[in-house]
Amino acid sequence: MSTASEEKSARTETIRCPYDGHVVGEMPVAGSAEIETAIQRATTGFNLMKHLPRFVRADILERTAELIEARSDEFISLIAAEAGKPLYDARGELSRSLFNLRNAAREARAFSGHEVPLDVDGGVFAYQTANSDGSPLRLEDADLDSLSNLGRRIGIAKHFPIGPILAITPFNFPLNLVLHKVAPALAVGNSVILKPAPQTPLTSRLLAEVLVEAGLPEDAIQVVHCDVQLAEGLVKDSRIAMVSFTGSAKVGWHIKEIAGKKKVALELGGNGAVVVAADADIAFAAARCVRGGVVYGGQYCIGVQRIYAEDAIYKQFERELVARVQSCRVGNPLEEGIDVGPVIDEGSAKRIEEWIEEAVAGGARVLAGGQRHGSVIEPTILTDTSSDMKVECEEIFGPVMTLKRVEKAEEGVRLAGQSRYGLQGGYFTNDLKAAFRALETWDVGGLMINDVPIYRIDNMPFGGWKDSGFGREGTRYAMESMTDIKFLVVNYG
Ligand code: NAD
Repeated sequence: MSTASEEKSARTETIRCPYDGHVVGEMPVAGSAEIETAIQRATTGFNLMKHLPRFVRADILERTAELIEARSDEFISLIAAEAGKPLYDARGELSRSLFNLRNAAREARAFSGHEVPLDVDGGVFAYQTANSDGSPLRLEDADLDSLSNLGRRIGIAKHFPIGPILAITPFNFPLNLVLHKVAPALAVGNSVILKPAPQTPLTSRLLAEVLVEAGLPEDAIQVVHCDVQLAEGLVKDSRIAMVSFTGSAKVGWHIKEIAGKKKVALELGGNGAVVVAADADIAFAAARCVRGGVVYGGQYCIGVQRIYAEDAIYKQFERELVARVQSCRVGNPLEEGIDVGPVIDEGSAKRIEEWIEEAVAGGARVLAGGQRHGSVIEPTILTDTSSDMKVECEEIFGPVMTLKRVEKAEEGVRLAGQSRYGLQGGYFTNDLKAAFRALETWDVGGLMINDVPIYRIDNMPFGGWKDSGFGREGTRYAMESMTDIKFLVVNYG
């Protein structure tokens, strides 16, 4: 099996581990000729896929899960090495990926359209129907027999695959996030052109190999490791039916502007917030905030970035939070037991360091961490920050949390919602009324009561409000977005 990039490209790029720069592998780079080939092959792939019976598509996805499971160690090592992801989290990503594939296989069998009742309003029924001789129907003259006969119309909404899907993905989940797009696209009978993140293309290539080994027609999955200009060309190309993008808000909204008439789904960034009320389990809340803030070096679109703790428990919460952050094990992601590895490259680490320094220069205090060591940022807690500092109002994408004292939890909910982003939020409280009220006022795609925003099971509807996105993922929801409906009306009277 070869990727589109490999077919003609002589040029390759070396992919290195972000922790120590060791070589992880070589990836062929696609030029414009390979991109054209990929589009043509994906079009051919679509024409094949769209006629495949459900059970064939489902079997391919199930078999892919089996093959990946059998090669778990290889996938886990590759994810950990090219993304710099601690082994524990790379294993977690693998488990999610297996579920994702199996769930898509189940949904491929179950996903179907629905009947829409047509005989629901007398006036409309009379207006849209005619007597058997074609004359206008007058309800007052019609007997029950003729009404029964005239009611013999059935309306069925049926989903159809739409064509090649362009999946553009970020670096932070090189397998599972790619599957958020590839699995539902194949489940409904589309083909995929996958443009993986430049830092993590090797996992995508391995996934494509396994899909083909599992029985997927080679043309139906095309991996193109290309530069941004060629990626933009793909976004604009009218032979692509939909762009499914995950990445930063800046790039995502730009893609929507240049995509023309095709469908677009955007899964973008955030500056996730958590509110801790006085009635919460404080030790549990602190433990979960630390996990949510430092997991994979904070490079999580739904990571914990801002925390608002109620005055009555503030001191206790701060103590718990600081102690737990200080006990995180920081180091080589390829060694067992590491909680926090590097961020994706030294440039990103320097940018995070600058944001911390800028906050401190503006009056913020460092409660824990704060230092950079090459591409590693120590897990950090800042306090006395203000809402116009980058560490609060922008997406930091590093293991950095801000902690603020609020008089009442409701005030925390209000402040948490004051963001241009709205992906997921967390609210630790045992007050049911307060929880439901927060759902009304806090504009986020998902609200976790008594947990942190990183909670995600891949069958949940997932996506953002405001700058955080456009559309929803989660297997079933992505499948809907990757199809279009044709509505059939049959008059059998
Ligand atoms: P990024 O936006 O820099 O890149 C994402 C992808 O877009 C990459 O493949 C990149 O090469 C490509 N790209 C960049 N410019 C492009 C252009 N002009 N045209 C076409 N493609 C282009 O993001 P990143 O740094 O890889 O990932 C981090 C971001 O992803 C964060 O903002 C994070 O919040 C977000 N993210 C969101 C979710 C979600 O589900 N909402 C999940 C993971 C990551």
